Amino acid sequence: MDYQEFFGSELQAVRDEGRYRVFAEIERKAGNFPQATRYVEDGTTNVTVWCSNDYLGMGQHPKVAAAMHKVIDECGAGAGGTRNISGTNHHHVLLEKELADLHGKEDALLFTSGYVSNWAALGTLAARIPDCVVLSDALNHASMIEGIRYSGAERMIFEHNSPEDLDRKLSTLDPDRPKLVAFESVYSMDGDIAPIAEILDVCEKHNAMSYIDEVHGVGLYGPRGGGVAEREGLMDRITVIEGTLGKAFGVMGGYISASKDLCDFVRTFASGFIFTTAMPPAVAAGACASIKHLKESNIERDTQKERVEKVRDALDRLGIPHLPNPSHIIPVMVGDAHKCKFISDWLMDNHGIYVQPINYPTVPRGTERLRITPSPVHSDDDVNRLITALSEIWSQCELARRDIAA
Ligand code: PMP
Repeated sequence: MDYQEFFGSELQAVRDEGRYRVFAEIERKAGNFPQATRYVEDGTTNVTVWCSNDYLGMGQHPKVAAAMHKVIDECGAGAGGTRNISGTNHHHVLLEKELADLHGKEDALLFTSGYVSNWAALGTLAARIPDCVVLSDALNHASMIEGIRYSGAERMIFEHNSPEDLDRKLSTLDPDRPKLVAFESVYSMDGDIAPIAEILDVCEKHNAMSYIDEVHGVGLYGPRGGGVAEREGLMDRITVIEGTLGKAFGVMGGYISASKDLCDFVRTFASGFIFTTAMPPAVAAGACASIKHLKESNIERDTQKERVEKVRDALDRLGIPHLPNPSHIIPVMVGDAHKCKFISDWLMDNHGIYVQPINYPTVPRGTERLRITPSPVHSDDDVNRLITALSEIWSQCELARRDIAA
């Protein structure tokens, strides 16, 4: 085989479909986000970022930065080892306590990302619980799917956000068989929210464990930022709450929160926890500061909601199609990979507005979109500029308008 030719032809096929991934190279400006510098071949330009998952701007919060600076000075850069072998720093332990408190659980366990936490925790639970069957929502994130696959356990897919289908599927199983139901609270690409209470009713009826991914919920929902389950008073009914420190909390890392024994079980058996260097202590301290702040402060959440409503109302006035949902995520539907890229490039080149196109396989073909995430650090002026630019491209690009509006 000519390996280079193979790589090249595979990449060309992706290019031909208009879904070759081009990463905008940016430098986020501390204290000035969502403004950023974009590096291009012959210099730099200024851009406003509209597609960040730093949903509340906590990545630049002075308390977070100060905590990280302090711990870098005190502890140095890296953790120095795996959690097992010299890498468990005091700041990891403090953060795990903070997370357990956030979710009202006995314990929490840190991972180096939300992806790893899903992959390792689901993979370990499903593989190690004898004869376990996993019921997985049809739109679960890749990290959950990969973890379930890796476990080798039997998997059943239930219809997205359908407690009825989950009930039907669970009813076909031996009542004594161990069962694990995996789903998300806020689905990242459509921004819809799961009927958590109804799903938990079904889990309880069938004595199934419940595993919720609150990656797009933590920090953002609930009076202390504990997620949608906190807002709905359901945290104590969920077996495992999984989350990230990389989105609303603005730093990096992932975790599960659950009973002491379940966390200890995953800690003991998950290779994705054991055989990897622990996150830098300064990162743990930054995340801890962010969580503490968002437990007490609602201003970021309230301002974000205001911004989201403002953008949504303006899109409605312009007739620009977006998926209606009750969350902070605004998916502006384009429905074609080439057009989606064209609009994204046009926004960047003409208005310094950065919204990454979202293509297959992240979303199904024909549902390509611009995923807009307003945050409390977007100013009124930023919102107005976004809306003006979108309005311009929707009017200028007649074909796109006709097709998109159809
Ligand atoms: N779960 C969901 C639903 C996600 O959208 C993501 C990331 N986009 C992850 C897990 C992974 O989280 P992290 O970015 O912290 O790895």
